[in-house]
Amino acid sequence: TRTHKQVDLTHTTEKMIGDRLRKYESLFKLTPEHMRRLVKAFTEALDLGLAKPKQVVPMEPTFVFGWPSRQEQGDFLTLDLGGTNLRVCLVTLQGEGKFEITQSKYQLKEEQKQEDGQKLFDFCAECLKKFVDAHLTDENGGLRLKPGENLPFGFTFSYPCSQERIDHGELIRWTKGFQNPHTEGQDVAAMFRKSLERFNLPIELTALVNDTTGTLIASHYANPKSKIAVVLGTGCNAAYMEHVKNIPKIKHLGIDDNTQMASNCEWGAFDSFEHEHLPRTKYDVIVDETSSKPGEQAFEKLISGLYLGEILRLILCELIDEDVLFLGQDTSQLEIPYALDTALLSLMENDQTDALLTVIGIFAHFFALETAIEERQFFRALAHLIVVRAARLGACGIAAIVSRMDYLEEGCLVGVEGSLYNKYPGFVETVHEGLQDIFGEQGRRVLIPLNIITHHAEDGSGLGSAIIAAMTRIRLDAGLY
Ligand code: BGC
Repeated sequence: TRTHKQVDLTHTTEKMIGDRLRKYESLFKLTPEHMRRLVKAFTEALDLGLAKPKQVVPMEPTFVFGWPSRQEQGDFLTLDLGGTNLRVCLVTLQGEGKFEITQSKYQLKEEQKQEDGQKLFDFCAECLKKFVDAHLTDENGGLRLKPGENLPFGFTFSYPCSQERIDHGELIRWTKGFQNPHTEGQDVAAMFRKSLERFNLPIELTALVNDTTGTLIASHYANPKSKIAVVLGTGCNAAYMEHVKNIPKIKHLGIDDNTQMASNCEWGAFDSFEHEHLPRTKYDVIVDETSSKPGEQAFEKLISGLYLGEILRLILCELIDEDVLFLGQDTSQLEIPYALDTALLSLMENDQTDALLTVIGIFAHFFALETAIEERQFFRALAHLIVVRAARLGACGIAAIVSRMDYLEEGCLVGVEGSLYNKYPGFVETVHEGLQDIFGEQGRRVLIPLNIITHHAEDGSGLGSAIIAAMTRIRLDAGLY
């Protein structure tokens, strides 16, 4: 085992680090005025997305009409294909807002994000089969379903899709590093059905659901004051319930103006291509240009878990090139793209020890690098700047929806899913401070408790997808689709 020897910094290096920190503070800082300007631009982008098809922020209609009654009942299967792994759930809705969930997680390998789309869906169907075999068979190995009965299935597919019906959706583009060929522009629900047939599964794809839409419905099911949902994890997005009469681009469908429909904002795309509004640093530009989709998902690239560690790594690499950090050490491990996972930033910020022992451990273990205490404090301060900017930008997006729906007076809850929100120390408080900065008077934080409160929407997308499948069944039975 390696023992950590004391690394001393020269006085010059220490001063250089201090100067750099001040520079980064000003680069990553977001003032309340700037945030308000962003909220305005964001609100305009939401309006445009509702008015016309194929806008930068596409505001996808979801065909999820209104809120659940909480009386939905029955067994539903769901599969969540998000950014990191794959989750299959059997959800039993018992009415009166009660439910039970049995779930299994399956690991998704990096290569699977690049192989043919149909192969990826075949893998998903294979996981479903394993789950059905493990949880839905009786002691004799027979299925616990009546002959000919199919289980309704909600497919949570967390990528931008344009839908014409609840059980259909054309993939607009992959995000979060997925690049599976032969999928963009295709109906992923139809592709998934093909895979279900291949495995001869007694499952019927009832609803194709974005994770934010699932979270929206699940968090309202848990607490009817919840009216907006946000996902802050590997990717980043939001959904909320819109009045059909305020979605001009779907007028031609002749849907009753008095109904409501969930809108999947796909806000990760805000400011893509033109880059007119977001405060991008040169590190953000590198993240973008070296990504599989340059120009796209501009907002997401400043906020979501997939990219934050990479932003820090790029700053460190620049300082290595400038001979400020790790003098005389082999830095090759740290120079590998995406080598610094955002989860490590979270561990660094959680380190309560004076010597920052966790930070020592991270750099020694993952990158074979020794660090001086001043460097460790500096790394932690940098992680903080990057993540505070992310949380404050997230607050801008929430504020745009709140303003559009006029929720400030009456107040509302915002259900949030995702590891950044759930696990990163201080993230929730920073989002709330950001909201205070936006809605406070003249840049002063309002002293009264803010009406807009975020909360963790547990099991959001799995439960939500099942409830949406149940709502769909009810509408189908009533001849409403
Ligand atoms: C996708 C969204 C998804 C979000 C969070 C984004 O990359 O475009 O559809 O909701 O990630 O998972």
